[in-house]
Amino acid sequence: MSIESLRMIGLLGGMSSAATGEYYRLINQKVKEIRGGHHIAELMICSVNFGNIEQFVRSNNWIEAGQYLAHKATCVEQAGASCLFLGSNTMHRVRDQIKEAISIPFIDIFETVSAEIRKQGKTKIGMLGTYPVMSDDFYVNAFREFGVELIAPEEQEKREVDRIIFDEMTHHRFLPSSKAYYLDTISGLVDKGAEGIILGCTEIKMLIGPRDIQEVPLFDTTTLHCDMAAGICTGEIEISRNTP
Ligand code: GLU
Repeated sequence: MSIESLRMIGLLGGMSSAATGEYYRLINQKVKEIRGGHHIAELMICSVNFGNIEQFVRSNNWIEAGQYLAHKATCVEQAGASCLFLGSNTMHRVRDQIKEAISIPFIDIFETVSAEIRKQGKTKIGMLGTYPVMSDDFYVNAFREFGVELIAPEEQEKREVDRIIFDEMTHHRFLPSSKAYYLDTISGLVDKGAEGIILGCTEIKMLIGPRDIQEVPLFDTTTLHCDMAAGICTGEIEISRNTP
């Protein structure tokens, strides 16, 4: 029997179980598309306690968040992963602490998503995500480094978009009223000049998708990150200093 060689991918949760499950589903679906048959990904998933993550985010406790995730990242590396994906936009805020703790490549969600935005020739993009993603500098600055200017919703919209993530989506609840709210918020961003929208939270793709929005393209961080993971796993994409 011939053993099919795949690269083992490391994943730190999404960080809710909803997003982690979606990463698992999408990576496997994509690997199957590439390799066919019964092939699925070789994955080392570290699903973290989202109760801790929620507390870190609510209390702006980024130092402990970084320590917690850096430790989990070392576990994934020791378990044999060839690279690490972090399935949360918000927790990319502590990516430097994580990168310092490991020697395997960290596949940054910002690089992955901005590469696709540039490929589509867009530069001014609206964003949806948790409150820290939409309000703190780290997200806007990271995209600016890759030549993408981000537009955030209004303050009141940020709070409601964030509430829907933590009170509903991370509990696997995807309500029609929340979908309508997100679509209205997107219309406001398009009115402000957005040429596309980043779904900057890894649960949002389960609420809205390209079929709901005709005017502009959606840049779904989960799908793009999972496509990258499947590409690396199957060897279609080489990991290098310049990945993606
Ligand atoms: N999954 C979310 C994100 O992409 C939010 C939940 C979390 O803090 O991990 O930002």
